[in-house]
Amino acid sequence: GAWLGMLGGGQLGRMAVHAAQSLGYRVAVLEPDPASPAGAAADWHLQAAYTDPQALAELAKACGAVSTEFENVPAQVLDTLAASLPVAPAGAAVAVCQDRALEKAHFAKSGVPCAPHAVLCTPADLDAVPDALLPGILKTATMGYDGKGQRRVRSREELRAAFAELGGVRCVLEALLPLAAELSVIVARGRDGAMVTLPAQRNWHVGGILATTVVPATGIDPALIAQAEASARAIADAFGYVGVLCTEFFVLADGRLLANEMAPRPHNSGHHSINACTVSQFELQVRAMAGLPLGTPRLHSPAVMLNLLGDLWFDAQGAQREPDWPGVLALPGVHLHLYGKTEPRRARKMGHLTVTAGSQPEALAVARQVAARLGLPTDGLDGA
Ligand code: ATP
Ligand code: MG
Ligand code: MG
Repeated sequence: GAWLGMLGGGQLGRMAVHAAQSLGYRVAVLEPDPASPAGAAADWHLQAAYTDPQALAELAKACGAVSTEFENVPAQVLDTLAASLPVAPAGAAVAVCQDRALEKAHFAKSGVPCAPHAVLCTPADLDAVPDALLPGILKTATMGYDGKGQRRVRSREELRAAFAELGGVRCVLEALLPLAAELSVIVARGRDGAMVTLPAQRNWHVGGILATTVVPATGIDPALIAQAEASARAIADAFGYVGVLCTEFFVLADGRLLANEMAPRPHNSGHHSINACTVSQFELQVRAMAGLPLGTPRLHSPAVMLNLLGDLWFDAQGAQREPDWPGVLALPGVHLHLYGKTEPRRARKMGHLTVTAGSQPEALAVARQVAARLGLPTDGLDGA
């Protein structure tokens, strides 16, 4: 069978490997960690650094196309591979998604508004920050995820302290916005420019980490959802993107829609698509990279996705335990996905669980039961 390549060994790679194998491909994963979720699922685990020239040459020789699941893979590596085989997404697009300043410039270029912000490179730039950006959130321009590399600041003094605390590296300061809701949209774009979207997801974060995704998005004006989907398409089109792209949006208290950030790959908020859509975000990634038709993804069941963080693996005394999987699997429509990580740690993404049902109230009711049994946050589960 034909081979596909994946850079990165995390859970996103693991689920893409599963989707590729379902379509009859064999998959080579380049990942330095000997015990990674995707490496364990791969047909071939190339255990080497992402920049290792020999490993990259072997990958290019064996595979018909390559993609990435790891946001911070050096964009240069993708460019190198692109000299010998199709690479989706392209290094240039990944480089934009890796840098919050470039990302916001790309939103502007796409005609999609984002948060008022300033790019801060040196302590001197802090003095020029307009009052309108305070209170704000200071974010490192690169490398942040799950709320890491971010500080909320109320004053210039706090801004100065936070900038130093983040290491004096290039940052983006965003105004702290009154959020009414958060949405995200998955787009897949093929080499021929054809695009499909999955229906917008509504997301709830707890402690800066995604906790819950509900689809269809509850309590949001349909016109706003249409706007989010059109904006996500415009953003993908504006850089001739090939592959799966997820854009996160804020809905403000006054009803405005702003783009927050994007991920050049399948996204945690799209995990429900494995069980609730006719074509999952991972299958879309495989189809796009392999140059196959994208199909016609459709949500066939309302869904609620609950993230399973490492905290669940510890009891109140801090002793390690296995969560009550038989208890939740006894409930109707529960799909459990564990990533094969052997070491549970607090705030570490160990797996997720999707509830599907014939109606959204039913899906939410089962999700509330799951949350009660496992001790998960209940944000978003009241259906309001
Ligand atoms: P991810 O894990 O999604 O990549 P991240 O670390 O890149 O997260 P962001 O998406 O920038 O971080 O922010 C995390 C969360 O913090 C957002 O989903 C939102 O809830 C909140 N947040 C971020 N920026 C703002 C803002 N300007 N105003 C209000 N809330 C914000
Ligand atoms: Mg992010
Ligand atoms: Mg985010």
